[in-house]
Amino acid sequence: MNPTASIAHDTWRDDALCRQTDPEAHFPEAGNSSRNAKKTCGACEVRPECLAYALSTGQRYGVWGGLGQQELRRAARRTAA
Ligand code: SF4
Repeated sequence: MNPTASIAHDTWRDDALCRQTDPEAHFPEAGNSSRNAKKTCGACEVRPECLAYALSTGQRYGVWGGLGQQELRRAARRTAA
């Protein structure tokens, strides 16, 4: 593992607003709303870093950077195109 990448990778997580709220809300059960998680993301100062991480690592489940699962998949397709 590249230690520099690991440090950069972890830095934004320190400021993740979901760490101060309910991280489980970002992985709602099927059929449950992701509205509260997205609301938290909307106030999170590391949202761009979080979304970039999610897209670069292929995260497809849960709410990352304010996007739900379907939105993440669409964004990933746009990024790959
Ligand atoms: S953007 Fe959302 S999921 Fe990402 S760190 Fe912030 S609160 Fe958590």
